[in-house]
Amino acid sequence: MVPTKYRSKWTQCRSGHNHQSKKEAERCNELVLLEKAGEIKDLEQQPKYQLVPSYVYEGKKVRGISYGADFAYWDNRLGRRVIEDVKGFKTKVYKLKSKMLKHLLSTEPDPPLFIET
Ligand SMILES: [Zn+2]
Repeated sequence: MVPTKYRSKWTQCRSGHNHQSKKEAERCNELVLLEKAGEIKDLEQQPKYQLVPSYVYEGKKVRGISYGADFAYWDNRLGRRVIEDVKGFKTKVYKLKSKMLKHLLSTEPDPPLFIET
């Protein structure tokens, strides 16, 4: 989690989700409209991707590391799945995790497109 000091205000979108910023809520509204228009489908909110699974080290359980994006959807125009992040302030941890995510995606045969806006 990003410390709250980096967060802008929680904003509700027209679908009633609480988003972490106004920008994110506005993007959600746009994506819902795009889905209604048939340009995208299977819109997912806050999808999570496992970067490192949880594991046991010397008898101690260590929590895994995951990447939480803002949206994922199938883009009919691109013919491709898209993972989208509407990030404001990019922390060092965020930059590191997005790099790890992109590495994971690069090893997939038919990877989704990762967009940071
Ligand atoms: Zn929303």
